[in-house]
Amino acid sequence: MSKGQLAAMKLMKAHGLSDLSEIPIELIAAGLGATVIEKPVQNADGRIVFGKKKAIITINSNIEYLGKRRFTLAHEIGHLTMHRDQFLMHNDTDATLEYFKKGNQETEANEFASELLMPEGLFIKIAQEYEFGPELLRHLADYFKTSITSVAYRYFKYGDHPICLVYSYNNIVRYWMRPDPYDHFIKDLTKLAPPEDSVATEYFKQGKIYPKSESKQEIWKSTWFELKKWENDDDFSFYEYCIITPKYNTVLSVIWEE
Ligand SMILES: [Zn+2]
Repeated sequence: MSKGQLAAMKLMKAHGLSDLSEIPIELIAAGLGATVIEKPVQNADGRIVFGKKKAIITINSNIEYLGKRRFTLAHEIGHLTMHRDQFLMHNDTDATLEYFKKGNQETEANEFASELLMPEGLFIKIAQEYEFGPELLRHLADYFKTSITSVAYRYFKYGDHPICLVYSYNNIVRYWMRPDPYDHFIKDLTKLAPPEDSVATEYFKQGKIYPKSESKQEIWKSTWFELKKWENDDDFSFYEYCIITPKYNTVLSVIWEE
């Protein structure tokens, strides 16, 4: 189990909590001696400043979604719990989207936030109740009141339907993740543009954002995966659901086979 997850479990146990979906997490921050302030912040969604004993967490009041606001605050509480001696001040431009960001502290804070808002056991239980698709991710985000992006990463880890994730920024693939083991070989497009026939490219090139009811888009396996000609590897249907954040010009492509 990761350090971040363990720290969140300990904290919840100490507070006698098992499901935070109905609880304002400012209370958790307050219990740990941090004051939470909400105000417009330039170039950051969240920030933490450590004093000698207490700390101040600032959340950007321009964050549009409750779920994202909660995830950002939970991420800062992760820093508060685990990283007190490691920095005096810390800025997070976009805690949710930088999930992939290397660096132990960010990974730890995200794992902490994920466990705090979406406890592993409960997440698995609810995720199993429905078939995989964008509605399931939206349902989980509504239930746990967290960002859809953080749900997608959580599902990648704990869901029972295998999915791949590709994160693109400004029409360039930054990172991708696929389950291990997995039957298909994803094209390594890191630092390159997403495939021409991908849903991500439709957004970057044409600004296309599908309405919720059409957010599951049919693509080809060959869109994102290698076809191995010598093995007579046939092309067939895959699906792509893009979680788009226009403000940051980012796309998280969720890709799966039915
Ligand atoms: Zn951070």
